Amino acid sequence: MDPVSDDYLIPAFLSQLNASRLRLQHAIRSRQLVMWYQPIVRLDDGCVVGAEALVRWPQPDGEMLCPDSFIPFARETHLLTSMTQWVVEQVFDDLGEWLHQHPQQYISLNIEPDNLQTTELLSCLSYQCQRCQVRPQQIVLEMTESSLIDPQAIAPVIELYRQAGHAVYLDDFGSGYANLNYLQAITFDMLKIDKSLVDPLPGKCLLPQIIALAKSLSLEPLAEGVETHEQAEWLSAHGVKYAQGWLYSKALPGRAFVRWCELRYA
Ligand code: C2E
Ligand code: MG
Ligand code: MG
Repeated sequence: MDPVSDDYLIPAFLSQLNASRLRLQHAIRSRQLVMWYQPIVRLDDGCVVGAEALVRWPQPDGEMLCPDSFIPFARETHLLTSMTQWVVEQVFDDLGEWLHQHPQQYISLNIEPDNLQTTELLSCLSYQCQRCQVRPQQIVLEMTESSLIDPQAIAPVIELYRQAGHAVYLDDFGSGYANLNYLQAITFDMLKIDKSLVDPLPGKCLLPQIIALAKSLSLEPLAEGVETHEQAEWLSAHGVKYAQGWLYSKALPGRAFVRWCELRYA
């Protein structure tokens, strides 16, 4: 076979793709992935209100793979549903007891339209909330605006989650998706302002208009990627109540997150 012909390259590519998929599938099944938690704070008093759960994939050489490097692959190879199932179990294993002891705190989970094709996720959340005696209000779902390709189809499913008590946040708002029609179809509870809009602060930016849009839609804004005191002060002065970012903490393993909360209130 000619080594540079498609006859050679396509099977080699497919075999490598298959091997990568098996590796990720094995990592999910054998619980090699880990969840880290980034605190979300209330800007006026600095109190923690919850955290966002963010997946990581530890590698044999000690490197910690960030989700941007494997979530798109998981999506393309239809592994997201099983990954999210594992995420939910892991979040409750890590923080179910803490959530039970702190009924005003919440954890938000990143989900995608694939997760909404069946009611599996809703059943799984309901089971775990009952098992750990956690209120459904303590589990929030985040969906990015770029994932809302078919808002009319997704709107009734999102409503099912909201009726079950889970708030649904619109993630990465302002990260580049221009058509805002989905805001008419889907009801969200909070709008997470993308880091790219927060970065220019306190310089000139579009945030006053974005905040006004959020408020006109009765959506509470939450700023992502807050790294400086100047940004936090500007956001607070302009009516943003909640924030997350490295100014407060990077994402932490479960126990370190609980310790971080304890130290903050010590
Ligand atoms: P996201 O949901 O918008 O999460 C926020 C990302 O911004 C996180 O990156 C977080 O570590 C990072 N970040 C937060 N504050 C700062 C800051 O002040 N400065 C900087 N430079 N970065 C900050 P991460 O953990 O790499 O996650 C990337 C994306 O991967 C997430 O964006 C989310 O869309 C996706 N993702 C993470 N975990 C999951 C998961 O369990 N399921 C799914 N479907 N997607 C996930
Ligand atoms: Mg998110
Ligand atoms: Mg985000």
